[in-house]
Amino acid sequence: MVLNLGNSTIAEWRGYKGKPFLISGPCSAESEEQMMETALQIASIGQVSVFRAGIWKPRTRPNSFEGVGSEGLKWLRRVKQETGMLVGTEVANEKHVYEALKYGIDLLWIGARTSVNPFTVQEISDALNGVDVMVLIKNPINPDIDLWTGAIERVAKAGITRIGAIHRGFSSYEKTLYRNQPNWQLPIELRRRFHDLPLICDPSHIAGSRKYLHEISQKAMDLNFDGLMIESHINPAQALSDSAQQLTPNDLRELLSRLIYRSPGTSDPKLLDVLGELRQQIDIYDDHLLDILEQRMKIAETIGKYKKENNITILQSARWDEIINKVVVRGSDKGLSPELIDVIFKAIHQESINHQMKVMNNGLQDKDNKSLSEK
Ligand code: PEP
Ligand code: MN
Repeated sequence: MVLNLGNSTIAEWRGYKGKPFLISGPCSAESEEQMMETALQIASIGQVSVFRAGIWKPRTRPNSFEGVGSEGLKWLRRVKQETGMLVGTEVANEKHVYEALKYGIDLLWIGARTSVNPFTVQEISDALNGVDVMVLIKNPINPDIDLWTGAIERVAKAGITRIGAIHRGFSSYEKTLYRNQPNWQLPIELRRRFHDLPLICDPSHIAGSRKYLHEISQKAMDLNFDGLMIESHINPAQALSDSAQQLTPNDLRELLSRLIYRSPGTSDPKLLDVLGELRQQIDIYDDHLLDILEQRMKIAETIGKYKKENNITILQSARWDEIINKVVVRGSDKGLSPELIDVIFKAIHQESINHQMKVMNNGLQDKDNKSLSEK
């Protein structure tokens, strides 16, 4: 789907040319004092376009702090009046949309626990029909690119043109370094699908901890994201939600000062020449890779025929173990990470199995249409 983004690229949303579109503020609005103190200090950094605060908080377990509700919208309105920053909050149903619009909220985002549900996203989109407000759609908690795409399409169909996506990572069963897995390939694929859609990274919910915020923010900048949403709180230790990942306004200032912004392209003819040549080499190697995969699958199909003739199972666990162990060691000798080898070889193995399945179950025979034992 081609999104109707009107004339409003992110460059026009942000007041600070050449820098990322920055959104910051507490995970949750807790009190008027906490909001005003945080907002005044965030505004004094001079780079933050939108002050954020959650008013209605979707919490994993009941009895956690679930937000102050509409009362907090008054505080957001006061932040806007007194600091000049735009203000934003999360909406999770149509009532939230109506309430937020009533208080002049400039930016609404759909959270990760909401973008998983097409009924709710549709309900929110219907409430947004004909309204001129910025809307950002967080990725769903599970790594499903089509679900994310679908949520964006629903909001776009409601006529919202100042629309963007927020990458906040994906939950996983295993305990990992970060609270949510970044799976960078998903936002990269989203960018391929919607070239001009502003893409904002939320390092706070990816990291789950202050200490990883800088590295994730820098990575987002290196991947040409358009902006960052970073949680900040006047006193993170006392925060009623997401305490471990929030930054004081001063720490946010310091983080921003350490970020390196790279240019998304170059017009230097010499550099373009060099890059062009190197990219040609990459294309040649990609072609090699495809040829090799084609050859490998042909051999897998032949093996499939033998397995069929001899009535043995496709999966031979011992052989697969032997392959994966061997390639991880060889890969590391070549400077390739075990994660890469694992992903690639699992995918290749799965594709081999699929080819062999076809041979087994469709009675696929080789070209001269003879089974192997007849040869
Ligand atoms: C939030 O931004 O505070 C929030 C609840 O985020 P997410 O939907 O990404 O969990
Ligand atoms: Mn939060």
